[in-house]
Amino acid sequence: MPRAMSCLFCSIAAGKIPAERVLENAHAFAFLDIQPLARGHTLVVPKRHAVRVEELAAEDVAALFDLAKRCARRLGEGLGAAGVTWGINDGRAAGQEVQHVHVHLVPRHEGDGGAPIHKLFEPVDLAEGELPEIGARLRG
Ligand code: 5GP
Ligand code: ZN
Repeated sequence: MPRAMSCLFCSIAAGKIPAERVLENAHAFAFLDIQPLARGHTLVVPKRHAVRVEELAAEDVAALFDLAKRCARRLGEGLGAAGVTWGINDGRAAGQEVQHVHVHLVPRHEGDGGAPIHKLFEPVDLAEGELPEIGARLRG
């Protein structure tokens, strides 16, 4: 698997830096976050180095999502999580600190005090006609 020499998660993938590994498949592996937001906070990572989601090959996307699904199921079965918050900080502006794609899986419990992901911001007040204008720009 191509790895970046100075990348933390490539070093973990290569076994050069220890981590509490949980599950893996051919193209992805998962380990526990060292500074968890909840017990069981898991990071799911492609074995092949990529910084941004858009760089991932189709087989890595499939492997990553499939492994994340398995991990999310284990958070329920193994730790009794009632839900899971999924998150990817894709790009520095989005808060990505480790420059190797990773999916955060944060196990959730009723009344755990955590917030849903759409409470990251206050809703934006859109001007008249702005929604279709944004849609048109996205369709290209
Ligand atoms: P980001 O902000 O890039 O989405 O999140 C990076 C995550 O990696 C953080 O939640 C942080 O706690 C975790 N992390 C950083 N360094 C290490 C490490 O050496 N080992 C493990 N297991 N997690 C790490
Ligand atoms: Zn890497």
